[in-house]
Amino acid sequence: MQQLTEQLYIAPQIGPGDMADIAAAGVRAIMCNRPDGEGGDQPGFREIAAAAELAGLEAHDLPVTPGQASVQQGVEFDRLMQALPKPVLAYCRSGMRSATLWGLANAARLPPEQIVNRAATCGYDLNALVRRLAGSVDPYAVNDARHQIVIVGAGAAGIAVAVSLLAREPALDIAIIDPAEVHYYQPGWTLVGGGVFEPAQTARVMGALIPRGVRWIKAAVAGFVPEHNVVLLEGCRTVRYERLVVCPGLKLDWDGIAGLGDTLGRHGVTSNYRYDLASYTWELVRRFRGGQALFTQPPMPIKCAGAPQKAMYLSCDTWRRNGVLGQAKVRFMTAGAVLFGVADTAGWIDVDQATLRHKIHPNIFGPGDAVNAPNAKTAAAARKQAPVVAHNLLVDLGAEAREARYDGYGSCPLTVERGKIVLAEFTYGGKLAPSFPSWLLDGTRPSRLAWLLKERLLPPLYWQGMLKGREWMAQPELVG
Ligand SMILES: Cc1cc2nc3c(=O)[nH]c(=O)nc-3n(C[C@H](O)[C@H](O)[C@H](O)COP(=O)(O)OP(=O)(O)OC[C@H]3O[C@@H](n4cnc5c(N)ncnc54)[C@H](O)[C@@H]3O)c2cc1C
Repeated sequence: MQQLTEQLYIAPQIGPGDMADIAAAGVRAIMCNRPDGEGGDQPGFREIAAAAELAGLEAHDLPVTPGQASVQQGVEFDRLMQALPKPVLAYCRSGMRSATLWGLANAARLPPEQIVNRAATCGYDLNALVRRLAGSVDPYAVNDARHQIVIVGAGAAGIAVAVSLLAREPALDIAIIDPAEVHYYQPGWTLVGGGVFEPAQTARVMGALIPRGVRWIKAAVAGFVPEHNVVLLEGCRTVRYERLVVCPGLKLDWDGIAGLGDTLGRHGVTSNYRYDLASYTWELVRRFRGGQALFTQPPMPIKCAGAPQKAMYLSCDTWRRNGVLGQAKVRFMTAGAVLFGVADTAGWIDVDQATLRHKIHPNIFGPGDAVNAPNAKTAAAARKQAPVVAHNLLVDLGAEAREARYDGYGSCPLTVERGKIVLAEFTYGGKLAPSFPSWLLDGTRPSRLAWLLKERLLPPLYWQGMLKGREWMAQPELVG
């Protein structure tokens, strides 16, 4: 928490557990500048507001999409600052949007240098905002940074592409843009919900995973200007690129279900799709003594389409072992037409499904969950896609001759009971693509070996292989 003025503190994301400390520091009101559902570890505003009330603080939200703080929102920020008891603590993911709103609110009152200097004392760079407000500069001509290769998103796909590029050409000038402090191994959340992993086993500090030599730009991308080879960051900064890799993953739309935000994490309602809730799943499963148990799956596209089923199978297996399955009325409510779908819908990053190169902008590539290739959206897919993207980007730079091709591989190990898994590996069109001979591991049947793979081998394969540039079982296939 940084003190920007006598009446205003700025902070990155806070949690309900921070309220007592915030109140003890003298703060009297909270302002949230982050829309709900932006991150996999983000408490919703209602959770924050409820905790704030208990601590005797007023809470208000003025959500701002990254990079899109408007003059009107600056005016609203000013109005709230007049109305709320002070001092106020404003927060968003990093604090940048809150600082930007303060800059907009005071643009007519303070000289630009004062806005920039005061924000800088708290670690926020408002130079680009002031340039924009001056209105005299072509925003795309003034670039805060430029790099040969820019990667958006340091998740499973982004880090894997960066390390695969460096494994091929260590001298490349690469920047990776991601505001997140923590990188999550999301496939582990099913096992957190099943009481097998601790949440901490699925999380690593982001800084430790960004490869040496890669510049980490710790900001959220707010927009793309592919005609100018520019990405826009929150706080109005810009980054120019020669080649761009876009892999921001999926944003979950919790508000797509009316009332869900109010009740998630309480009243027996949970989801393994959020880091801080997966352990609540296990708490509910452990305590269940009978009654109605509903498991739901939204319509495609979702990441890891098997995850809702996995939660149900593991829960039922626990209830069977605890002798309460007979008292349970279990229902699986799916909004999809099939139980296990591989989806291709419009509106995603439009790439060629073999080369993963953008169909309109050839210097842009897309691996990971956010592309429209009709594969299962899984880390297993990203593991195979990253070397293909790295290789094809080098073809584009003239360093390689033959293109690599992605065959649509994905895998979503179905935890059908504690100790047994159906590996479920397939390529485009749902064609089975087993990695192992069937005498060793039949991927179409539940097996203990597949469980061992998921519990013991896949996490190190992820952290030590995929995120370190070791392309174990992921060498790209070259064509032409
Ligand atoms: C409950 C659950 C179970 C799963 N089980 C499995 C499984 O068993 N097997 C499997 O293979 N896969 C599984 N998955 C899916 C797997 O985790 C994803 O497919 C994989 O993480 C996708 O990688 P990605 O890099 O595209 O996205 P992510 O890993 O989600 O990373 C996206 C990154 O982009 C960043 N970002 C977002 N917006 C911006 C922005 N505006 N600017 C800059 N950066 C941004 C985020 O901070 C994040 O770091 C599961 C997922 C869940 C939630």
